[in-house]
Amino acid sequence: MIGVLGRSLGRTRERLSAALQRIAPLRQPDEETLEALEEALIAADVGPATAARLVEHLRQAPSADESPREQLRSAMLELLSARQPGCPDGHLQAPAGRRPQVILLVGVNGSGKTTSTAKLGALYRGQGKSILFGAADTFRAAAVEQLKVWGERLDVPVIAHLPGGDPAAVVYDTCEAGRSRDVDVVIIDTAGRLQTKENLMAELSKIHRAAGKAIEGAPDEVWLVLDATTGQNGLRQAEDFLQHAGVTGLILAKLDGSARGGVALSIADQLELPIRYVGTGENIDNLAPFDAGAYVEGLLGEEE
Ligand code: GDP
Repeated sequence: MIGVLGRSLGRTRERLSAALQRIAPLRQPDEETLEALEEALIAADVGPATAARLVEHLRQAPSADESPREQLRSAMLELLSARQPGCPDGHLQAPAGRRPQVILLVGVNGSGKTTSTAKLGALYRGQGKSILFGAADTFRAAAVEQLKVWGERLDVPVIAHLPGGDPAAVVYDTCEAGRSRDVDVVIIDTAGRLQTKENLMAELSKIHRAAGKAIEGAPDEVWLVLDATTGQNGLRQAEDFLQHAGVTGLILAKLDGSARGGVALSIADQLELPIRYVGTGENIDNLAPFDAGAYVEGLLGEEE
């Protein structure tokens, strides 16, 4: 049965289906078929290096027991599980530990940070946790407003300052309020763009320090929100965050609208960071835990 993750991968799966159908009945795929598969994987944004590695696996070790499709499935699963340290399949729980847990969401503008902040709040609240939001994207007045609207709907308080204020001050106040109100999880939306890259990175490290000053050891998690519709390109755009923001995991937003959902394999292969959640739509409950098994099933579809 195809679940929500599989349904979100529909457009990506379409990019692979012809090549998969072609290779499915073969025991010893010929070079041309392998190349067509590699191209299809690249078209689905698996990334050239990762696509080549997956196909090389089939080229080098044709199996009498397994079809190429089954082998591809195993190779993908192996890659996802080996390269995602500390990411239990279907991880849905709010991170546990000292209270409050502090989660920062970072990433380029428009990637889905504000929406993901709200979705995470709804998810963890549904698990009986108390939540506090921090609106630290003070550069985008609409982001603060958007988060306040979500907060009202979810009955989650939002700490915000005036637009244009100091994001690090919002982070400090949110962590401080989270501590004094004894909430379980603090989730903070941050800015994705500043005048220069240097400013943005300086801002992020200031935000880190502010969280740590309010609560020792915070932030507990820094999740990079990546727009799945931008695939490899989005990964490149997020490079500065990956290098400088102390990222501990990813949220792959907008998987539902993407034909480039193969990027998850590339992320696992290149970054060795766990993908925690995927965005499966614009609604508040459209967030699913990333589950490697369901992902690979969704990507490859049912065997015909
Ligand atoms: P931010 O600038 O990073 O805070 O991005 P936003 O959270 O404002 O999201 C940008 C746009 O993407 C909004 O129109 C959201 O509704 C949309 N969006 C976010 N996540 C998803 C998702 O998982 N699926 C779909 N289809 N749209 C999403």
